[in-house]
Amino acid sequence: MIAAYIGLGSNLQEPIQQLRSAVLALARLPSSRIGKISSVYRSAAVGPAGQPDYLNAVLRLDTSLAPAALLDALQHIEQEQGRVRTVRWGARTLDLDILLYGQRQVSTARLTIPHPAMGQRNFVLYPLVEIGGANLVLPDGSDLGTLIARVPRADLVRTRLRLEQDAIVPGDRK
Ligand code: ATP
Ligand code: CA
Ligand code: CA
Repeated sequence: MIAAYIGLGSNLQEPIQQLRSAVLALARLPSSRIGKISSVYRSAAVGPAGQPDYLNAVLRLDTSLAPAALLDALQHIEQEQGRVRTVRWGARTLDLDILLYGQRQVSTARLTIPHPAMGQRNFVLYPLVEIGGANLVLPDGSDLGTLIARVPRADLVRTRLRLEQDAIVPGDRK
């Protein structure tokens, strides 16, 4: 099993429900098991102006799926939850990004791991440190503590919303 870290985001159609549904769907993936789940964070949208705020979280997924198969599965879940791709970085019901896949580096036409923007995004780094710890090391040898020290918390709010409570009923975890 590889420890993958998945970033979840939503800013449309009841974002907290979107994130909870996504956790349920991830819990049902073959050859995979959900580990720690971060708190839910709220932040202003990046990209086109006038979008609603985002809710974001990060979870650890221990998986035997290969990176491309994992991306297929994540995109299937996005589609199931009604994601419509319009403008880049536009509002969406659900976004699932592969942030890290163990210590693997992947560079293909449809997949770059580590996620290229993760080092600049507070809504990725803060939840990731919450569950992975500041000592988590990336494939290039940098550690999360060093990365996060360069990225201000700014408008990012850690909410009291939780994803694991009652979102996963016993038996869902594989
Ligand atoms: P960003 O990647 O900057 O967060 P986004 O999440 O809005 O932007 P999407 O429209 O969701 O971008 O995805 C565009 C493409 O990014 C996907 O079709 C996928 O092939 C590709 N991609 C590359 N690397 C990754 C990754 N690590 N995780 C998820 N998708 C990836
Ligand atoms: Ca994204
Ligand atoms: Ca994405």
